[in-house]
Amino acid sequence: MSDNFDNFNIKDDILRGIYSYGFEKPSSIQNKSIPKILEGKDIIAQAQSGTGKTGAFTIGTLCKIDPNLDETQILIIVPTHELAYQVYTVFKEISNYTNISLMKVLGGTNISMCIEELKKNPKIVIGTPGRILDMINRNSLITSELKTLVLDEADEMLSYGFKDNIYHIIQRMPKEAQICLFSATLPDDILELTDKFMNEPEKILIKNEELTLEGIQQFYICVQKSEWKYDIITDLYDIINVNQCIIYINSKNRISEIYDKLLNDNFPVSYINSDRTSEDRKIIMEDFRSGKIRILLSTDLLSRGIDIQQLSLVINYDLPKEKETYIHRIGRSGRYGRKGIAINLLRNDEIEYLKHIESYYDTKINEMPADISEYLN
Ligand code: ADP
Ligand code: MG
Repeated sequence: MSDNFDNFNIKDDILRGIYSYGFEKPSSIQNKSIPKILEGKDIIAQAQSGTGKTGAFTIGTLCKIDPNLDETQILIIVPTHELAYQVYTVFKEISNYTNISLMKVLGGTNISMCIEELKKNPKIVIGTPGRILDMINRNSLITSELKTLVLDEADEMLSYGFKDNIYHIIQRMPKEAQICLFSATLPDDILELTDKFMNEPEKILIKNEELTLEGIQQFYICVQKSEWKYDIITDLYDIINVNQCIIYINSKNRISEIYDKLLNDNFPVSYINSDRTSEDRKIIMEDFRSGKIRILLSTDLLSRGIDIQQLSLVINYDLPKEKETYIHRIGRSGRYGRKGIAINLLRNDEIEYLKHIESYYDTKINEMPADISEYLN
């Protein structure tokens, strides 16, 4: 164990990047996983939301790059464009004092430009599974010298929508390449799958009961009719006057309905879902990060990975369908030990489901008190 990045045997130029990015000491997951990545072991690494998993695989894999080998050596796969941009930025910052080349490979972007850029053999590729597999199949993305594959949000990457693409990508990797899985949630059925393609992985796991963060206070508000939720949202905003919040809504139609109403009531609001163009999504995220947009309505597209430090409030307008999603959604606030609040709006008949989530994670979700604003300080 080390409580200092200097003890990891990290090259000076990367160490300099780590410190100038503002990291002083490694977090617990960084301490546990970076040495394993350096050893070349397969790992399955679980840690609570906001505890620095990105830093762990960014630092670990940057250290593995052979600067004299002009081939793609590291492949990082994430579920959404938004997360790919964010992870790319972290790599860019931490590798700032090196010459290590990076590239994003994302669906919905120009294919011939993607092929052109891959000809330069970027040492690290960060992207989404569909386009990455496409580039591998076209022999544009060369996998023969890959040292490490990282699946961020691994349980999502190995679930229904992405699994086949991931398996195909793994089949194209060298046998001795290392596979690293990272996520806050790793349900048993997904862990079982890993036997198929991992080689005696080192497992860093945490119990369900330890998954929620103490810094995030969770509340619920019960309504008799779903239609009343809108008024609660507007009331809440007046009371808490928070910096920024995400409101999760399960359906795209309901998002547009609520968006129109909030806009009409002059709220600094925008929305994001998979129907928006890649370009729109990029602009909205930039505006949300800069604070120009204060309230963002979203489907589960943004339930995972997004890291915005000043985001202190998450509202579940609808409860998520999966209990893992609940952990990811509320984990958008309370980043790296900060405080956060999660408020769940429910109909009376959903209280049982919420109680189930509460006991599964051994956490506390209380009925919302009147003096909520005090919790934000
Ligand atoms: P996770 O993927 O575990 O949810 P992230 O990797 O997105 O978490 O990190 C959450 C936040 O913590 C980010 O804002 C990141 O910059 C910050 N962070 C990560 N590691 C450190 C560190 N060692 N020191 C200080 N801040 C850190
Ligand atoms: Mg993450």
